[in-house]
Formats: sequence, structure tokens, C-alpha cells
Amino acid sequence: MSSHYIWPGQVFIGAGVARHAGTEARAAGASCVFLLADGAMAAAGLLDPVCTGLSAAGLSFALYDTVVPNPDAPAVDAAADAFRASEADAVVALGGGSAIDTAKAMRLVAAGPPEGRAAEYALRLGEQARPHPRHLPPLIAIPTTAGTGAEVTPWAVLTDPAEKFKFSVGGPRSVPEVALIDPELMLTLPPFLTAATGMDALSHCIEAYVSTNQNPVLDPMILFGIELIGRSLPVAVARGADRAARHDMAQAALIGGTAISSKWLGACHALAHPLSSFANLQHGLANAIMLPHQMAYSLPGAIERYARVGAALGVPQEGSLRRRAEAAIEAVAQLTRDVGLPTRLRDAGVSEELIPQLARYAYTVDLNWWTNPRSVDEAAMEQIYRAAF
Ligand SMILES: [Zn+2]
Repeated sequence: MSSHYIWPGQVFIGAGVARHAGTEARAAGASCVFLLADGAMAAAGLLDPVCTGLSAAGLSFALYDTVVPNPDAPAVDAAADAFRASEADAVVALGGGSAIDTAKAMRLVAAGPPEGRAAEYALRLGEQARPHPRHLPPLIAIPTTAGTGAEVTPWAVLTDPAEKFKFSVGGPRSVPEVALIDPELMLTLPPFLTAATGMDALSHCIEAYVSTNQNPVLDPMILFGIELIGRSLPVAVARGADRAARHDMAQAALIGGTAISSKWLGACHALAHPLSSFANLQHGLANAIMLPHQMAYSLPGAIERYARVGAALGVPQEGSLRRRAEAAIEAVAQLTRDVGLPTRLRDAGVSEELIPQLARYAYTVDLNWWTNPRSVDEAAMEQIYRAAF
């Protein structure tokens, strides 16, 4: 057995760490910062501690707040053009996965040759991506949701505007140098987004735990992440200002992101991505709906591991291994209901006629099923969508 690990950069986690943006940018050698943020975050005052920290460190900054949800390649190219036009020599990204992914992809383009465009960095099977530039401007990532783990992962997920499918750019050197994970920035996240992003973090932990990539050093940490989510996601949804629950969820998202960086994902994410592209489902919601059905399909390939997932979620350890693994699936479905999310595609507004097209994309375009514990094909993908409908 051999293993390959991709670790986070420096991670600060706790109330108030967003203010470290200035000292960390200065330590990275910056004199002027490109501050890329979701516009709604700026309006909500979440940028204030970051701006205070940058000013206190004597740094000037250029604010770029035109981040779009599910960023596409032209949005990344526009951000890269703005970075080049600024005086900035470092990037601070604040927001959810869309803002941090835009920053990760943007710095590849901005540091590359002038003619390079984001779409040329796409990682696709059998295709050569543009070589990464040798030096990237340092990136400090500040998440405002506890879900994607984008603050520690090596990839950015972009949407192809013409074909609508999702693709990744990045690699081991695209991991942000610093993650400032400040639960204070998550206290006002509304219940739906808290629930959906939290279920995304759970799907990262569970998919990574049963992945065919062998990274045993990560296994105990992943079970801890699952335990944190089972305990604290319902609390964070019910009482958004509960600081202990927000801190737990921030840690769980960090664990999920660290886990998938080495262990990758599985068929749940392959099934979820086309639901976002073709039926506009929020990423975490798509995963929340698909996860129990992908687990049920995959159970024969990882029965013992699914039983341990159940134990981490507090399922009583009674009966056969199979019974305990099945109880884990029930616990995930119950958690989805507890946090107020729909559990069926039909209740989320997905049309049944879309299923064959979704299955084709999930299998032939999305490669995340590669590390699923049970092999899939297009017919299996269709079967899982129909079970979730
Ligand atoms: Zn995800």
C-alpha cells in the first residue's frame, strides 16, 4: 500500500482570527492586497475585521466584490484582469466556496502568461492542462460558511457556461497558504445555508472515509468530523448564534476539506454536480439528497466503514455489521430531515425527465465516482437518481 497526502497550509481557527489577515499578508511579503469578496458579505459587514486587520498592518488593498455563485471561467478571467490592473502582490479571499474558488483559479491565470485563460487550466481526462505558473501570489482564504472546505483544498470548481458542466482547476500547489477560519463570520448564516453547507461537509467526510484511496492517517480525524456534525449541525441550524456549534461546524468543514484533498470524493458528488448544473440545486442540498442513496448503493463495498460512520453519528451499536451500516444510512437521512432539508429530488423541484441526462453527465463527464467504494456505470447512476426521486 502507498499513500499520497496533500495537507492544508497554515490554519488559524477561532473567534476573531479574521483580523490576522493583515499580519499574515505582511508575513507573506505583501505590500498591497487584492481583497476578493462576495458582495453580500461586504454589505453584511463581514469584511470589517479583515479591513481593520489589513490597515493595522499598514497594508493598502484593492477590493474586488463581483464574485458570482458557481463561478465560470469568464468570471475568473475578469478577476485575473482586475488583479493584474491593481498594484496587489497577495490575495485575500472572503466568502463561501464560490469566492475562495474564484481566488484559487484567478491566481493561476493572473500569474500565468497574459494570453492564458482559466478554461485552459481545466483538469480533464486525457487532456493536457496548461502548465501551472512557477510563482503564485500568496493566498489567504477566509470562509464564511462551514461546508466546502475550499480554504484547505487544492482545487477550484468552475462551471463551463456553454456546456454547463463543472470542472476543476488546480493541484497541490494551489492550496491556500493560510486559512483563517473565524466562526464569528458564520453566526448570521441563515438556516437553509447552514444546513446545506453542513450536509456538504458531512458528504465530504463520509465519501472520503469510504474512498478507495488509502490514507489511514486521516481516518480517526474524519470520524471526529462526522461526530462533530452529528452533534452540532442541528444546533447551528436551530440557533445560528450558538458559538460552540458554529465552532464545531467550522472544524468539521476543515476536516472534510483536508480529507478530500488526499482521499478525494465518490459517486455522491458525481451525482450532485449535474443537479447543480442542470436543475440549479445548491451544492450542499444536492449532496444531502443523494448521500443516503449513494451510501445504500455503495454499502456492499464498504460495509465495515459505514458501520463506523454510524457509530460516529451516535447510532446504537447493536446487531450485525450490515444492520449497523444500514442504521448509518438511516441516521444520515434523519439528520437531513432534522435540519429541514428536502430528502427527495421531486421535493427539490427536479423534473423526472432530466434523470437520463443527469446520469450521462454524472458518469461520463464528472470523474468523482473514480474512488467510490463500489463500481458504478451509467445505469447505476440512473438507478440511484430514481431511488432519490
Ligand atoms: Zn462538496
